[in-house]
Amino acid sequence: MECYAGILWTPDGPIEGYVGVSGGIIVERGEGRPPSEPVATGFIAPGVVNCHTHLGDAGFDPGGKHTLEGLVAPPDGLKHWYLSTVDPGVQAARMAAYWADMQESGFSAAVDFREGGAEGCETLKKTVPGAIALGRPRSSDFDGEEVSRLLDVADGIGLSGLGDVPYPYAETLSDECRRRGKAFALHLSEAVREDVEAALSLEPDFVVHMSSATKGDIARCADAGVPIVVCPRSNAYFGLEPPVADMLSEGAHVALGTDNAMLSDGSLRGEVSALAALLAKQGRDPSESLAVAFEGWKKILYDKRKIGGRIGDKADFTVFPSGKGTLPLDAMRGKDRIRIRGTG
Ligand SMILES: [Zn+2]
Repeated sequence: MECYAGILWTPDGPIEGYVGVSGGIIVERGEGRPPSEPVATGFIAPGVVNCHTHLGDAGFDPGGKHTLEGLVAPPDGLKHWYLSTVDPGVQAARMAAYWADMQESGFSAAVDFREGGAEGCETLKKTVPGAIALGRPRSSDFDGEEVSRLLDVADGIGLSGLGDVPYPYAETLSDECRRRGKAFALHLSEAVREDVEAALSLEPDFVVHMSSATKGDIARCADAGVPIVVCPRSNAYFGLEPPVADMLSEGAHVALGTDNAMLSDGSLRGEVSALAALLAKQGRDPSESLAVAFEGWKKILYDKRKIGGRIGDKADFTVFPSGKGTLPLDAMRGKDRIRIRGTG
């Protein structure tokens, strides 16, 4: 048995403890001192879900500085030019490479907003089998056949925004997702404030960003029990800042995502560090970023994925080495990590 010891993340917060792994399976886990000499010590973080990605634009270098509208807004944003012109084989290889790096950084899975209709979701599922694909239809008007084909492949629908499609179309998509037992989510109030009531009437499973939302909008999401996924580094690229302190003080459920692959290295450490810095700036305890990263995703996914570390589970955790007594967040700021993943 290989033993890993140090500060262990648990749903109730960090504890001093250890994890024993044999043949890629967690065979022991406990509090206090490890039963044998550990092979590595540090902050032991469970594998977590990256709650918002766009893997399709991995490897695309947009060059220079762009506005949100100019870079990502459909249909004319620069990234949509890339998506419609890139060689599919090249794109798949770039997505797979990015996915491998993202998993190596400490993520186990990702909830991806996928462009390109049913075909886009098919490519995603083939290339990165662990991804949860939230696709979007290509037609500008509701096409029952297209939506049905999309939902045969996708795990749900992730709309680019409220203004993306006519509102009745968005309502029909939300209804279809519910009827088929699929997820429905959307970007909301990223660069400009949008109508939170209109968004909540669509009964989304979660919303992404809320960087331009008011405290009142955030309170409405909290009341409605709709989680908010924040992507601090992507927002920073566009000069935006998600009001995470307000989200936490309003009792909203907050989860973490890395957003566009072309703008982010998709690393767990990078996004947690950015969130920690943001929380400190907004007057909160930076270590609250850990609960957002390690617990937030659980309200986004309902399929009880075996991620983390119960005895008998496949090992899936990351050790961020640290000196004795170092806090988890400090360990995550270091350079090294040891990723432990059981295979088979
Ligand atoms: Zn996004």
